[in-house]
Order: sequence, then C-alpha cells, then structure tokens
Amino acid sequence: MKESATLAVAAKAAALKAAGKPVIGFGVGEPDFDTPAPIREAAKRALDAGMTRYAPTPGDKAVREAVARKLQVENGIACKPEHVTLTAGAKHAIAMCMQTLLQFGAGDEVILPTPAWVSYKPLIELYGGRCVEVPSTVELGFRLDVAAIERAITPHTRAIILNSPSNPCGVVQPQQVMRELCDMLARHAHVTIVSDEIYEKLIYPEVQPDVVHVSPGADPRLAGRTITVNGMSKAFAMTGWRVGYIAAPGDEGRFAKEVIKLQGQLTNSIPTFIMPAVVEALTNGAASVEQMRKAFAARAQLTHRLLAAVPRLRNTPSSGAFYAFPCVRECMGLRTSAGRVIDSAQTFAEALLEESLVALVPGEDFGDCARSNIRVSFACSEQQITEGLGRLKAFVEALR
Ligand code: PMP
Ligand code: GLU
Repeated sequence: MKESATLAVAAKAAALKAAGKPVIGFGVGEPDFDTPAPIREAAKRALDAGMTRYAPTPGDKAVREAVARKLQVENGIACKPEHVTLTAGAKHAIAMCMQTLLQFGAGDEVILPTPAWVSYKPLIELYGGRCVEVPSTVELGFRLDVAAIERAITPHTRAIILNSPSNPCGVVQPQQVMRELCDMLARHAHVTIVSDEIYEKLIYPEVQPDVVHVSPGADPRLAGRTITVNGMSKAFAMTGWRVGYIAAPGDEGRFAKEVIKLQGQLTNSIPTFIMPAVVEALTNGAASVEQMRKAFAARAQLTHRLLAAVPRLRNTPSSGAFYAFPCVRECMGLRTSAGRVIDSAQTFAEALLEESLVALVPGEDFGDCARSNIRVSFACSEQQITEGLGRLKAFVEALR
C-alpha cells in the first residue's frame, strides 16, 4: 500500500533539519504545544500507583464513563460507557471501523467527500472496500455537495466518512449544510455514518462568527447508525500518547461488541496508566484547550492574510482545524528560479522544499479533486508562519 503522504513529508523535513538545514515545517498536522501539565501528572501518578498491568480491552470503567459523559454532554450523543472503546489513536479507530464494517469481495462501497485526509482511502481499500470520492472545491468553499453525495449512494454503499472540521480543507461545514446532509442520510437507512470529529474543539468564530460543530450522532434519525470517532491528539496536544476512541451506541451495541472483539485480538487495550490522563483531560482540560484554540485562531487569521497576498494562489479562510488548502493551479506550467517546471502539486511541494526549505503536503493524496492544492499545517508559531509563508511568496513570485 501507499505510505502516508503527511508522514512522508514530516520525515523528509525532519531529515533536512537533522542535516542542519533551516526548514520551516508546515507538513505534519501536529500541535506545537506540550500536553498540559495536569494531564501529564495524571499519567505519572497512575504509573507510580502501579497501573502497569493489563486493563479491560475497551478501557477501564472510569475512562469509558468519562468518554460517554463527554459525548452526552458536549455532543448530545446518547451514548453509554459500554458503547465506547479506547483505541491507539483515531487512525486506529478508523482502521478498526473499516475492518469491522467491510467485507472482502462483497462490493462494499464507502463514500468519501473529498478533499479528505490521506489515510481514509488506503484504509477503506486495505479492508476490501471501494472508495467512492465525492468532490468539493475551493470555489464552493469546500462545502459538501449533498446532492452529489446522494447521487453516489447505491445499494452497495456500506458507509460514509465525514470529517468536519476538515483535514485538509480547514473548514467547518455550515450548520445548514449539515442539516441538509442529515435529512438526506435519514432517507438512506442502509448507510452507516462514520463521523471523525477529531478537530471538533478547534473551530474559529474569530474567522467565521456563526461556526458551530454538529455531531450527526446527535440526530435521533441517525443515532442508531452513526459511529463517532474522536481522539486526544489535536485538541489536547497529545499526538504521541496515541489515544482515540470509537462510540457506537446503535443496534443495541452490536457494532461496539464487534470492535472490542477485534481489538482484543489485535492490540488489547491502550496503555493502562494513560487512562487516568484521558479522564483528567476530558473532565478538567477545557481551559487548556481554549488557550490553544485561541492561539490556533490567531494563526488561522495570519495564515489566510499571508496566503491571500501570494499571487496566483487561491485560498479559503480556515474556520476550523489547523490547515489551509490553497489552490496552486495558476502556477502550473511555470518554471522555478532553479529551472524546474511546476506540473503538479507534487512538483510544487518538492521544488518549494528543495529550493526554499519550506515543507508542506501536496494535494494529490487528499483526493482526485485536490491535485492542484497544497496543504499548509499552521500548527506552528506565528514567527514560523510569517517566515515560511514569506518564503512561499518569494518562491511563487519568482516563477516564470
Ligand atoms: N483523523 C483525522 C482527520 C486526522 O487529521 C488525524 C491526524 N492524524 C487522525 C484522524 C488520526 O489522529 P491520531 O491517530 O493521532 O488520533
Ligand atoms: N493527521 C495529521 C496530518 O494529517 C498527522 C499525520 C497523520 O497521521 O496523517 O498531518
């Protein structure tokens, strides 16, 4: 299978940095903040208290209760602790959802509104599904095309993967679009909804005043067939801890039981001493999250301002997550100052890294419709954003 494009760029940038090159990394989507101290302390205390042995596969009682409570209170999802499984990151959660839902040789299709995160399609295909892309564009502000999604539904559609706020688009779907989407999905009872809400906390009314996060699992018409995926990586700056979760309250917990069986054979539980840290984060972490969210909001605004000043690029302001996804179509066919011809997002990103030491992810692996886009992850300091996007501007201005 293909390697992860985001991780490949991160590795390349890290290698250049290790070789002493002053690379600015807009590659990987990873907050530059440290995990808040109370969360770290909770894990240390748990280690010292001897939480070093196996735990129940889906997580212990306290952590499942904390996740279920969070989903009920914050997202309006009628979820009980027994419907929750803690996973080794949201990536592992998505993988297990696909593995549980899809059947090899059955012609199962999964609808993926694109541009979408690079790992969804490989995971759908790994477990025997066919990925049906339904594109959106910069021109549409990356809004979901609900009518096109409905046209893509067939008797073989097993699931749809939703991700708002979106990686890589950096947009939160408007409430009205989510309403239309839910109304439409309510008419197609055989479709399971996998809602990846890992960026839910990172939304920016500072950019778009009416922005809100909507969980499809809170819609009573969809609750029974919505699987909500989330994780600690982004909102709590816990990428290296590897914690995500799956909540599947529907069908009398049948899907939840299948996932737990699968995880019991694959990895068993997440590390035992991490569970109290997750409880601490979900119960008392709001103030830290808000502090980081504010910083990301300022970075979103700065990033858009600087990208809007780059000739030939077209960008949509980021109302959520920490990505901008500008279109570089107008740079195609032009030559860099080192003489390289830009003929794809891939060559744009390669030339920018080699000639200007700025790392970002080319659009190709985010979907067929994203071949002329580049992803800028602005989860870094304002100083780095200013320096890196300054280099990007000089690079584009020098194209002939
Ligand atoms: N979903 C989306 C949309 C993501 O951007 C990421 C980032 N890697 C993940 C899931 C997985 O995150 P993690 O495995 O770190 O929880
Ligand atoms: N989700 C992040 C990104 O898109 C982290 C890397 C990954 O797992 O893909 O950059």
